[in-house]
Amino acid sequence: MHFSDLKEGYYRFRGTEWQQERERWSELATGQSPKVMVIACSDSRVDPATIFGARPGEIFVVRNVANLVPPFEDDGGRHGVSAALEFAVTKLEVEEVLVLGHGACGGVNACLTQSLANTKPGEGGFVAHWIDLLDDAREKVVAEHGTGPEGQKALEQEGVKVSLQNLMTFPFVKERVEAGKLKLHGAVFAIEDGRLRVLEGDTFENA
Ligand SMILES: [Zn+2]
Repeated sequence: MHFSDLKEGYYRFRGTEWQQERERWSELATGQSPKVMVIACSDSRVDPATIFGARPGEIFVVRNVANLVPPFEDDGGRHGVSAALEFAVTKLEVEEVLVLGHGACGGVNACLTQSLANTKPGEGGFVAHWIDLLDDAREKVVAEHGTGPEGQKALEQEGVKVSLQNLMTFPFVKERVEAGKLKLHGAVFAIEDGRLRVLEGDTFENA
């Protein structure tokens, strides 16, 4: 698909779905009140709206390489995920945050295999320094499962847990979770078999 195809898609959308839901769109024009935020990977195969059948206005989504949440950092850097999280939690007052991992994740694989180690920004370095958020999890996973398919699956799951732990380093998240106003969830969508596995306690179970 190229931009020309996207425009064709837009014309179809404008002539059908948009027409059918005109009222809903004019309602949405006055504001949004999604109840759940989803943090997913940028990977083209794992669009949360597609997987969950969500309509415009229903889920607040941030996507990045390997669906990661960095820890709370007050270091003068520009924090896209933290900004979106702050907006969703403190302004939109979402009730739930879901970290959605996925199978065959290239970002996770780059971390697992260290394929981008020692690269410069622009040559893989941006990705390398982003996915090094998983370095501690990687060590644990490699020791137990190696760097093959089992390790890949394990690191995809561990990565979700790391992001959930990092979410709790944001004071505005922690206080709401402890007050019962915000729930955090983790899940991994397999792609291969279309299975969603949801984090229950410490393990991922078929949904
Ligand atoms: Zn991915």
